[in-house]
Amino acid sequence: MNAATPTYHIIGAGIAGLACSYFIKQKNKNIRTVVYEASDRIGGRAYSYEDKDLNTRLDNATHAIIGANKNMAKFVHEKEWENYVYFWDVEEDKLSDQHQRFLAHIFKSICNTQPSLIAQNILRKILFLTFPWTRKKRRLYFSKQDLSQKFSNFFLGSIDELLLNHKLLKIDTQFGKVAQLNFGKKVVEIGPDDVVIVALDNRNYAKLLNEQELPHNPIINIFYQTSQKINLPKAASFVGVINGLADWIFVNHNILAVTISAINDNKTDLQELARRIWKEIDKLRGVNSAFVPAFKVCCHKHATIAQDETTNNLRPTSAQGKYQNLFIAGDWTMQNYPCCMESAFLSAKRAIKEIFKQNKH
Ligand SMILES: Cc1cc2nc3c(=O)[nH]c(=O)nc-3n(C[C@H](O)[C@H](O)[C@H](O)COP(=O)(O)OP(=O)(O)OC[C@H]3O[C@@H](n4cnc5c(N)ncnc54)[C@H](O)[C@@H]3O)c2cc1C
Repeated sequence: MNAATPTYHIIGAGIAGLACSYFIKQKNKNIRTVVYEASDRIGGRAYSYEDKDLNTRLDNATHAIIGANKNMAKFVHEKEWENYVYFWDVEEDKLSDQHQRFLAHIFKSICNTQPSLIAQNILRKILFLTFPWTRKKRRLYFSKQDLSQKFSNFFLGSIDELLLNHKLLKIDTQFGKVAQLNFGKKVVEIGPDDVVIVALDNRNYAKLLNEQELPHNPIINIFYQTSQKINLPKAASFVGVINGLADWIFVNHNILAVTISAINDNKTDLQELARRIWKEIDKLRGVNSAFVPAFKVCCHKHATIAQDETTNNLRPTSAQGKYQNLFIAGDWTMQNYPCCMESAFLSAKRAIKEIFKQNKH
């Protein structure tokens, strides 16, 4: 190992881990970056895959980005933004594009937490980042079976070595510094100038570093596949559902996806829920389908950490980890920020900034 060119070891190939490598190369392209990922793919909680049940490409979960997410917004082409997001009140059977009336509904989805519980500082941050609600900041994009292609694949060019199927099992330390990374099948020695960045989801971070795991909230996604293009009133493709079973409806040609955030009841029969939601969609479309189309239910039990006051107070305030040469990144590591792709990206930016402030690489 050459002392002049240290290696930065990044654990986790979600948006945060991938973006770390990107920011390192922006600072110093001579630094070698190695990304270790437990699974056999990159993207973490945001990826696309070939679904065998529906025989089509799907996103693991439909991801939405608002224009105010400045960093993620750069990945979206001008024509892909939805300028009109409609809200449909199921009880009144009325469509409206007055988003100001439905802020609580929007906040619940952004924070994956019941609106009355969301930490005040997170709400302030959302309002600060999105204020004034200009047309540009307000606009929305949702992923259309293209999460991997659009986001994570972009970062691949900035990684020197990507090691999939490498789950970090143990960190060995010496004199307050990480000395070895133990992957079971392989042990990696950490050089004196090397840096380790742990860019994991909170559950795996807590397991690895013997820390307290934060409470999480689930998100349910249901994908319906029809034989023909699905048309909604006003040619809408992005609809917030008020007083209904689902929170959001997203339409992309013949795939209709619905999302339900922070669902409290873990006893719900999800297959039955999917059938009942389709009845609601029938109502919105003004039709009475003879049968429910093929669908797939994806329940992400630990989608994000809860973003209530108590949990927010337990989140880190800096990227410095518990050892001198260990830093952290990941959506949950940014106290006061909603957990999303934007905060994952920002956490990477912060980690690299802090590392370069401390190290003269
Ligand atoms: C259902 C759902 C819907 C969502 N909707 C939205 C949305 O609409 N908009 C939005 O912006 N965000 C949304 N999010 C949140 C968004 O996906 C996350 O905030 C973001 O992807 C987090 O990225 P990350 O890199 O911080 O963590 P992760 O993506 O979790 O990456 C961590 C990586 O570390 C790997 N790993 C874990 N343990 C180890 C180990 N021991 N060794 C090596 N590797 C390990 C994991 O396999 C994973 O690849 C949603 C998330 C879910 C689940």
